[in-house]
Amino acid sequence: MQILDGKIVSQAVKDDVKQRTDLLRSTGKKTPHLAAVLVGNDGASETYVASKVKSCEEIGFKSTLVRFDGTITESVLIGAIEKLNADPDVDGILVQLPLPKQISEDKIINLIHPDKDVDGFHPVSVGKMVQGLPTYVSATPYGIMLLLEHYKIETKGKHAVVVGRSNIVGRPMSILLSSNSHYGNCTVTICHSHTKNLKELCLQADIIVAALGRAEFVTADMVKDGAVIIDVGITRVADPSKKSGFKLKGDVQYETVSPKCSWITPVPGGVGPMTIGALMKNTFLACTSKNEELNNFGAG
Ligand code: NAP
Repeated sequence: MQILDGKIVSQAVKDDVKQRTDLLRSTGKKTPHLAAVLVGNDGASETYVASKVKSCEEIGFKSTLVRFDGTITESVLIGAIEKLNADPDVDGILVQLPLPKQISEDKIINLIHPDKDVDGFHPVSVGKMVQGLPTYVSATPYGIMLLLEHYKIETKGKHAVVVGRSNIVGRPMSILLSSNSHYGNCTVTICHSHTKNLKELCLQADIIVAALGRAEFVTADMVKDGAVIIDVGITRVADPSKKSGFKLKGDVQYETVSPKCSWITPVPGGVGPMTIGALMKNTFLACTSKNEELNNFGAG
């Protein structure tokens, strides 16, 4: 078994982006500017946004954190997004999800200008990704594709089972893996909470992407020998021995599954850091508008 090390690969992605950002600066060009919007005080969201802002600082991006109380109205948030859309200095906008109940996530996502949609959630970005056109690919699936590419994991003709069909992870992942591109060309089965024979389907998989948000759901008896395992899940599980009071668990039971597989992403240190690396890459591309460089997975 070998580790798909998201920390190492994400650092490589960020180092590359930093080099190119240094070059922009040294030639007097505009440097990338990411605006992150955080509503409320959810602990996990605070952590994610803090790491995104920290990565911006490491790379030399400008970053702006726009914070709101969890009780704000939808119209206040709409006003803030419109302001960021209109600000020529802001290249990328990310709104940390989930949003409080009184705010429609769809409405907010749809409001972000597609040119600044570095999270790749806007219907225009999703539609282009489905058609294999250059666009911002949602950061988590994009990060996973970068990881597969880095380790040269063979995907062509493989059977990939994606567990989870959310708009931000499972569904785009299934599309990228099935696309006619270098790290695509899989035959993909996408599973969800109504899938009947999940264990049998997983047992047929050469690649499993577990993105359902249920700690240690995928167990050794669901995995065939030599499979590649991508564990997207992050669940906080109580652990009094930790200072924070919790530890992070993936959707895969690492201890039992890892001895059976060929490659596996750890949690933490796998997909999580890759998501941030991919977000930085998208933000850089938003700034330079080098559309030809956008990750066109459908190019074949
Ligand atoms: P989500 O929106 O809650 O979607 C979960 C998906 O899993 C749904 O499609 C759901 O099916 C399916 N599902 C739930 N229980 C299932 C079961 N027992 N059997 C089969 N399918 C089941 O979650 P998400 O936003 O995609 O996130 C998934 C996990 O990834 C979470 O732990 C999240 O924290 C983590 N995550 C990590 C990163 C990262 O950077 N590492 C990024 C994003 C998310 P239905 O559609 O039928 O309800």
